[in-house]
Amino acid sequence: MSEIKNRNFIEEIIEEDIRNNKHNGRIHTRFPPEPNGYLHLGHAKSICLNFGLAQQYNGKTNLRFDDTNPAAEDVEYVDAIKEDIHWLGFDWEDREYYASDYFQQLYEYAIQLIRAGLAYVDDSSAEEISKMRGIPTSPGSLSPFRNRSIEENLELFEGMKNGKDKEGERVLRAKLDMSSPNMHLRDPIMYRILFSSHHRTGTKWCIYPTYDFAHGQSDSIEGITHSICTLEFENHRPLYNWFIENLEIFPSRQIEFARLNLEYTLMSKRKLLQLVNEKMVDGWDDPRMPTISAIRRRGITPEALREFATAVGIARRENVIELSKFDNIVRANLNKIAIRTMAVLDPLRITINNYPHEIEWMEVENNPEDPETGKRNIPFSKEIFIEREDFMEEPVKDFFRLSPGNIVRLKAAYIIRCEQVIKHEDGSIHQLICSYITNSRSGSDTSGLKPKSVIHWVEANHCITATVRLYDKLFSVPDPANYENVHSILNKDSFQELTNAKLESKMKSADPGTRYQFMRKGYFYLDKNSTHENLIFNRTITLKDSFGK
Ligand code: ATP
Ligand code: MG
Repeated sequence: MSEIKNRNFIEEIIEEDIRNNKHNGRIHTRFPPEPNGYLHLGHAKSICLNFGLAQQYNGKTNLRFDDTNPAAEDVEYVDAIKEDIHWLGFDWEDREYYASDYFQQLYEYAIQLIRAGLAYVDDSSAEEISKMRGIPTSPGSLSPFRNRSIEENLELFEGMKNGKDKEGERVLRAKLDMSSPNMHLRDPIMYRILFSSHHRTGTKWCIYPTYDFAHGQSDSIEGITHSICTLEFENHRPLYNWFIENLEIFPSRQIEFARLNLEYTLMSKRKLLQLVNEKMVDGWDDPRMPTISAIRRRGITPEALREFATAVGIARRENVIELSKFDNIVRANLNKIAIRTMAVLDPLRITINNYPHEIEWMEVENNPEDPETGKRNIPFSKEIFIEREDFMEEPVKDFFRLSPGNIVRLKAAYIIRCEQVIKHEDGSIHQLICSYITNSRSGSDTSGLKPKSVIHWVEANHCITATVRLYDKLFSVPDPANYENVHSILNKDSFQELTNAKLESKMKSADPGTRYQFMRKGYFYLDKNSTHENLIFNRTITLKDSFGK
């Protein structure tokens, strides 16, 4: 199989390494989230890539929390991240690591570089350091502290570690190249002082390594062979390699790919946190969010998410994926598995005045895509509900559903004709009186009538009442990342709650293991806050693209 499949460039690198018996053909990747927010779709892409490659090449994947910035990190995020990865269908077995587990080792690496004359303590302020760094087109200037003796550097660095200095007073920098056109090589900072309690190491440390000094070394400590990250780290790669070479540690290799961008979707934890903090959404798992937890709550399956991650492929250049690509994969997946049911979201009562029976049972399929799910019988009587929008008192052109004097077919039941409209005092429609065509029963119709539309309905005395929540895109523009002020681009109509939806009585026992299709209305999933007394369904997605209608 693998012969005919087109390999992406990362697979090519890995296969070449295997051919050359690099690291004895061993493949070891890692997924390195910073626990400063919930995982989003972009992370899902990275998870599927890292765990997927390991599965494909018989390797392993570590979960490593990149927890070097105590100010923004929290155990709540650690727990949520683990839950999300498991839900997606991947497992790191016993390889759950934390960059903070390596603080002692990293400290010793720093001393090793000081001893080699490759790192120095700088007393300059952050502003001074930034000024001395200069601009890419001309060399920066050397810090007056750059030529401190090794002994002095060792002593000062120990002092930093022991809490002798205040935050911002001193940093440890790598002695590299202040004239490099790559700004990351202009004596990058390795350690800064932070008197912040860490969620794992408490107050043991008051110096913390920067991303650049922690990430590559953590890869190396874990024997990671292929360290896959997103393109913004391309310019960090020479530094990644410089630390590994000068420390003479395991040569992990960094490989960059383009991050996943999706239309109408923000993929920055910082901005998602702002949405949560400023209550623009109802928490990290608000179904409009692009987080894995929100996607789960909405009712999307892990299979669909994995399929999407594979379908978008691996690119070397930034691109933006159309939202329809995501939606179509979700729909195709749900179409196969969802149990069909009729539900009227905005009910309009109908009395069928010539219907003679107390009740009849109509047979309907549970899922035409999956005959094994069988059929069920639903009740029909003279009292039913239809969708308010399926009736128009004065039908516009091309409206072929119910209107005065006209006929429509009720799915799996009879053809009815609207005889009379009964109104409230304020002129709004209270209910309809209809008649039914006696010999028009679905499956044995001999009426010869051909209504132009089929609509769904629910029998009024057996049905149950539930709440349904409908969602639309959170943003009104396709490129929300380009706007600093998210308030100005929120879609005001992204959420709608209907509390009087009428559902088939079997939905009383709806369960969160099942995806439902409410015929003509979309795919629905039980919300996490739903109770037996107060059923709440989230619409996962509409049946077909209704955006822009
Ligand atoms: P954010 O910008 O949302 O804070 P991040 O890259 O800072 O994202 P991390 O927790 O550091 O978040 O990321 C963990 C891993 O997920 C990294 O390897 C990162 O490259 C990858 N990742 C993050 N966002 C995306 C994305 N949009 N597409 C693909 N991979 C991503
Ligand atoms: Mg990050």
